[in-house]
Amino acid sequence: MKVEIPSKVEEIVDKFEQTGYEIYIVGGAVRDILMGKSVYDWDFATKATPDEILKLFKDAYYTNEFGTVGIPNENKDERPYEITTFRTEHGYSDARRPDKVEWGKTLEEDLKRRDFTWNAMALKPEHESKRVKEFKSEKTKTTQALTLSSPFTLIDPFAGQEDIKDKLVRAVGDPNERFSEDGLRLMRAIRIATELMFTIEEKTFEAIRVNASLINKISKERVRDELFKILKSPNPYEGILLFKNSGLMQEILPEMEKTFGVEQKSPGRHHIYDVGTHSLYSLKHVAERNSDPVVRFATLIHDIGKPQTFKKLGNGTITFYNHEIISAQIVKRIADRLRFSNKEKDKLYRLVRYHQFSVDERQTDSALRRFLRKVGLENVGDMLDLRVGDRLGGGARETSWRLEEFKKRLIEVQKQPFTVHDLKIKGNDVMKVLGIEPGPMVGKVLDKLFEEVVEKKIENEKSVLLNRIKNLS
Ligand code: ATP
Ligand code: MG
Repeated sequence: MKVEIPSKVEEIVDKFEQTGYEIYIVGGAVRDILMGKSVYDWDFATKATPDEILKLFKDAYYTNEFGTVGIPNENKDERPYEITTFRTEHGYSDARRPDKVEWGKTLEEDLKRRDFTWNAMALKPEHESKRVKEFKSEKTKTTQALTLSSPFTLIDPFAGQEDIKDKLVRAVGDPNERFSEDGLRLMRAIRIATELMFTIEEKTFEAIRVNASLINKISKERVRDELFKILKSPNPYEGILLFKNSGLMQEILPEMEKTFGVEQKSPGRHHIYDVGTHSLYSLKHVAERNSDPVVRFATLIHDIGKPQTFKKLGNGTITFYNHEIISAQIVKRIADRLRFSNKEKDKLYRLVRYHQFSVDERQTDSALRRFLRKVGLENVGDMLDLRVGDRLGGGARETSWRLEEFKKRLIEVQKQPFTVHDLKIKGNDVMKVLGIEPGPMVGKVLDKLFEEVVEKKIENEKSVLLNRIKNLS
C-alpha cells in the first residue's frame, strides 16, 4: 500500500535501511493512517539496539529507562519521533510494569506485547530500490509539511484492520491476561474507545469489569492523564458512562458512583433525574459549549456532596442543604488524590463551591462583586457554562430571564470596578488622622483599608474608616 508520510519519517526509514537494520512504523500511527486520520505521533520499532540507533542520528537521545530513543520533531507542537528496540516482556507480578524487559529478536514478539489489535500492526517499508525516487529529489530540510507517498506492506497479525472496520476495541490475545499484566490498559481501552467512538468487544469489556480493581496499582498521574483524555474528547458523556459501566468509576471516583440512584424528585420541584444521571447529562451539555477538561470535570462532580446531605421531609420534599460546601470538600480530596496541579485544583474547587450562585435580581452590586471575586474573574465564563449544563442536565431550559439579567449585570459591575478610589475616605483624611506628610505610607494605609472592606471585615463608611485608621498598628 502507498502511505503518505512526512519527509522526516522517510529520512528515518532510509537511514535504517542504508545501514541494513529492519525498521517498522508501529503503534497509534499505523492505526491512524488506516483510519484516514492525521498522525501526530510517529513510533518506530527496530532490531537495532538503542546504542546503535544513537550512532545513526546525531540529535537522538534516550527518552526512558527502557531505552526508547527520541529524535526531536522539527515541528515543536508535535511529539518527538520515538524509536524502540523490539521488546519481549516477561511476567507482570504487579499489574503495573513487566518484571523484565528484554530485547526481542522479531517484530512478531514485539507486536504480541501491545495492548489492542489495531495497536499491534506495523508498516514495513518496501525495499529502497522500489521506492519512489523522484519524491526524494524534492526533499528540503524543513519539510514536515511535505508528505511523501511511499510503498509499505501492512503487517497485521491480530486482524486489527477488521476491528477498525467493525469499530471494535479488542485486546490482543487473552483479554484477562492483558489487563492483569498492566492495569493501565483498563483506562486506555475506555479512553481510546471514547476518542475513536468504538465499541468495546464483549470479552474485552467483561475482562475490564472483572479486573477493574487492578487500576489501583497504577500511578494516579497516569490514571488522571487518561481521565483527562476522556474528558477532552468530543464525547465525554459516552466516555464517562463507559467508565461507570466498566466498574472503573467505583475504583477511581467512588464518591461519584454513590450519586447514582440518589433520588431528587420532589413534589413541585424541577428535578427529574437521580443525582448521578443528572450529573452525566450536565456533562453532556456543558461539553457542547466548553472544551476545558477541568470545567467538564467540575460539571460532572458538582453535586458529589448530595448523597451526604440528602434529607426527605414529611411532605416528601427532598433537600440537599449546603451540598455545595460538602461537594467542594470532596472535590479537594479528589484533586489531591488524582494529583491535579494547584491551578487545576483551585479552579475545580471554585466552580464546585460556588455553583449554587443565586441570580436573584434583588442582589446588590456588591453581592455581585463578591461573587466575581470568589469565583475569580478568569473563571466566570466557565461558571456560567457550568450553570447552563446544570440547567439543561436537569431538564430545564437553557436559560431564564433572571440568568440573562444576571449576566448583563456581571458585565455592568465589572465596568465600574471597585478600587481603592471608591473608598469613602481619601489620602487627605489619612494624613490628617495620623498627622503625617504625603508619602508611601498614605497609600499603604488606603490599600490596607481597601483590603479589609473587600474582605467584608469593615464597612465602607467614612466614620468606620476613620476610626479604623487610628487603630492600625
Ligand atoms: P495516543 O498516541 O493516542 O495516546 P497510542 O495508542 O499511540 O495512543 P501511545 O501511548 O502513543 O498510545 O503508545 C504507542 C503504542 O505503544 C500503542 O499504539 C501500543 O501499541 C503500545 N502501548 C502503549 N501503551 C501500552 C500498554 N499499556 N500496553 C501495551 N501496549 C501499549
Ligand atoms: Mg501514540
